[in-house]
Amino acid sequence: MITCTNCETPQFLQITQSRIYFEDGEMINEITESYECTLCGATGQYSYDDDHDEETVSGGVSLTKERPKFA
Ligand SMILES: [Zn+2]
Repeated sequence: MITCTNCETPQFLQITQSRIYFEDGEMINEITESYECTLCGATGQYSYDDDHDEETVSGGVSLTKERPKFA
């Protein structure tokens, strides 16, 4: 899950740009999404590389584990 680093919530994030890269006309091997937080105005970018099963974020967003922890 992607959250705003400032607000620590995904609640106000909006995707402003989304790009999907294709390989051999079929497989999705990379996804890039730009985010903007409508609360604090922070922007960031998320990308996923299917070849390496790797997620990266930059800017004002951060990646959190999708599964919440219950102690
Ligand atoms: Zn924010």
